[in-house]
Amino acid sequence: MEKIQSIEDIRISAATIGEAGIECEVNIQPEKFEGILCDEDLQVREPLHIHYVLTRKGDTIHAAVHLEGKIQTFCSRCLVPMTYAFKRDLNTDYLPAPPDIPDDYEPERQSAEIGYYRKDITLGEYIISEMVLALPLNYVCSLDCKGLCQHCGTNLNQGQCRCEKPLDPRLQKLAEIKNTIRR
Ligand SMILES: [Zn+2]
Ligand SMILES: [Zn+2]
Repeated sequence: MEKIQSIEDIRISAATIGEAGIECEVNIQPEKFEGILCDEDLQVREPLHIHYVLTRKGDTIHAAVHLEGKIQTFCSRCLVPMTYAFKRDLNTDYLPAPPDIPDDYEPERQSAEIGYYRKDITLGEYIISEMVLALPLNYVCSLDCKGLCQHCGTNLNQGQCRCEKPLDPRLQKLAEIKNTIRR
């Protein structure tokens, strides 16, 4: 287990990667995520676990990455604090960078599967961008979360409120007439 450093610091000198490859495990401490998730409702309180294997075939370097982490956030329906656990497997090839592209390789990628290197494999930047892209837009505590009552704010997972009683179909007509009169 290597002691680290920030995620961006995961860069490996290509010259050190031989046919046999390199395998490494890294834990990123929660404080290293400041400024990465760019959303104050997303908090990292446990280390992010990264395992990667780099192998070489000629000039092409393949990276296989396994990520595991947890994010503290709030359910978008019932607003209760919740933990979002994620696991990702990433695979990408790194090719020698053509002379005309700048030294900032990660934005020059053709796809999630093909990146570039000159001296270093900038694996950390790749991991950050893939991790952020894979985060959901909305978090839900469970797929059948009932959310909050729009009128009184009761958490409907904990019980029904008194706002909306299902209407008897025979009374429905009457309610419609009443509404019409009020207008
Ligand atoms: Zn919920
Ligand atoms: Zn209610």
